[in-house]
Amino acid sequence: MQVDHVVCAFCGCVCDDIRVTVEGGRITNARNACALGKSWFLNHGAPSDLPVARIEGKPASLDQGIEEAARCLAGARYPLIYGLSSTSCEAQRKAVALAEVSGGCIDCCTSVCHGPSGIALQGVGEPTCTLGEVKNRADLIVYWGSNPAESHPRHMTRYAVTPKGMFVPEGRKGRTVVLVDVRRTPSARAADIFLQIRPGRDFEVLWALQALVNGRKVDAASVENTGLSHEALAAMADRMMRCRFGCLFVGQGLTQTRGRHFNTSAAFLLVRSLNRHTKFALMPMRGHGNVTGVDNVLAWQTGYPFGVNFSLGYPRFNPGEYTVVDLLGRAEADAALVVAADPVASLPAKAVRRLAEIPVIALDTHESETTRCARIAFTTSTAGIHVGGTVYRMDNIPIHLRKVLDSDRPSDEEVIGRLLARVKELKAC
Ligand code: SF4
Repeated sequence: MQVDHVVCAFCGCVCDDIRVTVEGGRITNARNACALGKSWFLNHGAPSDLPVARIEGKPASLDQGIEEAARCLAGARYPLIYGLSSTSCEAQRKAVALAEVSGGCIDCCTSVCHGPSGIALQGVGEPTCTLGEVKNRADLIVYWGSNPAESHPRHMTRYAVTPKGMFVPEGRKGRTVVLVDVRRTPSARAADIFLQIRPGRDFEVLWALQALVNGRKVDAASVENTGLSHEALAAMADRMMRCRFGCLFVGQGLTQTRGRHFNTSAAFLLVRSLNRHTKFALMPMRGHGNVTGVDNVLAWQTGYPFGVNFSLGYPRFNPGEYTVVDLLGRAEADAALVVAADPVASLPAKAVRRLAEIPVIALDTHESETTRCARIAFTTSTAGIHVGGTVYRMDNIPIHLRKVLDSDRPSDEEVIGRLLARVKELKAC
């Protein structure tokens, strides 16, 4: 059986043109998907032999797991809910309600990837557009601190570089691609211009470009420590001002290096200045399939995109205080619910040590370092393969997931919904 227009929810590109072949209850092919997408469909489409729930490593029923996990959350003074970037918006919405009822914190993977972009957005505003506009209009593409050839393999071919657009009928020939990075990555092969800057000098380069775009004089000596000459910077500023429609895609090379939200603020301000000369937009290269969705859900439920605290009964936002690394690093959280994420494998050692000390409840579609350490682990079905739902593409466009296979595992939404109902009962008691 073949299913058309299936959505790949592995990375922020959220490609919705996948043709999936199902044979014998398994996915055997995913046409149009890149290597990452194929691996996601083929691995997550295979039946899981893990029990639906495990308590202290021993198989348990779903009801037993729910009861144990709900008691754990209801008894905690300061629980943390974390992850949520690879699940549906419907599950994310229930997780926000659970955080409110539990009186703890909710944080998502944004705080360790594009949190600085979220802070810059609040500070200076985000001049952005959709990927459809990029495809149809952009004649200048700039990737900054991003390696899409490896992280988002179809970004260039489906949206930004090679496709023919309404106002870019020549496709690749009608676009100039610039890559700015601290090292030559595989993406440089697809670029017309590669600008190699010194590590940690993004802010200086962006600020100098902004000054040039605003018609200010920039002293050659003041930019010599950036790795780029004054001539190269002036040529880049000129190229950006002369394009018809440009888009700056920023990656974690910008957000997770020295300067963090100052870097992204400088990028946003540069793009704002460019709009005095031409049409220019900026878009963060979001990694996980629905990390943009969790920012949206949190923002429309609480007013804040990540790191939200409910301990006073209303939402408060303070990155550095209510964000996962800080909460765990200071040993404040006394229980954790981890949904569709693997913090044990990805967070700093101090935060992981705290996770080893407190009861952890993990929801995931497969075995991970976190489910192995969790006191209660649930094996859930995969959003986009076994259940439908909504995800947000990196340009904030919501896209509906198609169900392809049946599964006897519950969805994240179902497990979190049941936890929410039971924690409400226990708290009322
Ligand atoms: S680019 Fe991303 S969304 Fe598209 S097929 Fe590859 S992994 Fe899936």
